[in-house]
Amino acid sequence: YWDAAPHAANPALAAPFDIHAVRRDFPILAERVNGKQLVWFDNAATTQKPQSVIDRLSYFYAHENSNIHRAAHELAARATDAYEGARNTVARFLGAASPEEIIFVRGATEAINLVANTFGKKFIGAGDEIIVSQLEHHANIVPWQQLAAEKGAVIRVIPVDDSGQILLDEYRKLLNSKTRLVSVTQVSNALGTITPVQEIIALAHSAGARVLVDGAQAVSHLRVNVQALDADFYVFSGHKVFGPTGIGVVYGKKALLEQLPPWQGGGNMIADVTFERTQYQPAPARFEAGTGNIADAVGLGAAIDYVERIGLEKIALYEHALLEYATHGLKSIPGVRLIGTAHAKASVASFVLAGYKTEEVGHALNQEGIAVRSGHHCAQPILRRFGVEATVRPSFAFYNTCDEIDRLIAVVKRLSATRR
Ligand code: PLP
Repeated sequence: YWDAAPHAANPALAAPFDIHAVRRDFPILAERVNGKQLVWFDNAATTQKPQSVIDRLSYFYAHENSNIHRAAHELAARATDAYEGARNTVARFLGAASPEEIIFVRGATEAINLVANTFGKKFIGAGDEIIVSQLEHHANIVPWQQLAAEKGAVIRVIPVDDSGQILLDEYRKLLNSKTRLVSVTQVSNALGTITPVQEIIALAHSAGARVLVDGAQAVSHLRVNVQALDADFYVFSGHKVFGPTGIGVVYGKKALLEQLPPWQGGGNMIADVTFERTQYQPAPARFEAGTGNIADAVGLGAAIDYVERIGLEKIALYEHALLEYATHGLKSIPGVRLIGTAHAKASVASFVLAGYKTEEVGHALNQEGIAVRSGHHCAQPILRRFGVEATVRPSFAFYNTCDEIDRLIAVVKRLSATRR
């Protein structure tokens, strides 16, 4: 029903959903910046919010606001229902076996720190090995370095090829009986590479290791099913999937979560407290100490409902066409070097332009109302693998169009033509 050939047709005109209606759902897309209509190409940093999410947050505060679980009154019941409803929505979205496998945290960073401080503290010791890939965001490097320093564990790194894809043969060589955990991203935030997580997980399991998948850049672009993947842990941030900031998720297999100690202590996570001895709640409450981010969890549920209404399969198809269109356009500009050219990629077109600092390109684009990230994207090791310290990173979402990409290409072309 839809021709995905990148340049034959303008896919914006033939998106497999009503692109104009979708764009109207995001009020911020009507903003003007420097006199021009905003083009939001910084989706890998954070995504914009549909009206349904904005409305859900204000409905919560207008009609449901209360602390959860603790009171007998009506609003506590409404807030608890809304919060637990969001947990159910997340469980369905990820294909989890049960909502008890879903822990709400602040974001992917806190999620990875939670796993390091629970699973890591209990199961990783001196001489044990943790494998990460060269593609990782700092959030999936630093917590493991901290744990390794404390425990005397060792970090091993899977290298990538010149396209920015993980070298599976090198990964196989790193796995051994000391490997306790493999922690890898499903989609690279700096390059857009989609990694072969299914194979990575299967190989880790056959070596007796557990796997954490960093899904921060994946869940807004691909259909994820944690049971099909057989992931032990899967984490993501709400704000990168059209939900609010300050809310994120750890999925963990129930049998595994039950073996883990809590991380933070306080209210909500206990079953009984005396000065002598405290008994903890089962998961997920054991890992949700204190008053959580209730409204934003509810907002995340609304964001997932929105994405599901469009359909991730349609989103993936359309974004693929946008990426092909942008890649083709950028490649044709003299002086542009694309960083990250893997066959399997999602929604990121990182590049450098000869003769310009990345922030100069970012500034020129901003003058035209186009928002991109220029910098190291919190992923310095992978950029250095390609001999650069920074890139310009347009990153796309389903509300973007080829017309917007044309505006970006025009600016980069102009800069290229006036190169020093
Ligand atoms: N992992 C990846 C791949 C990311 O892209 C990001 C954010 O850019 C994170 C983790 C951290 O997410 P947050 O800053 O929302 O905690």
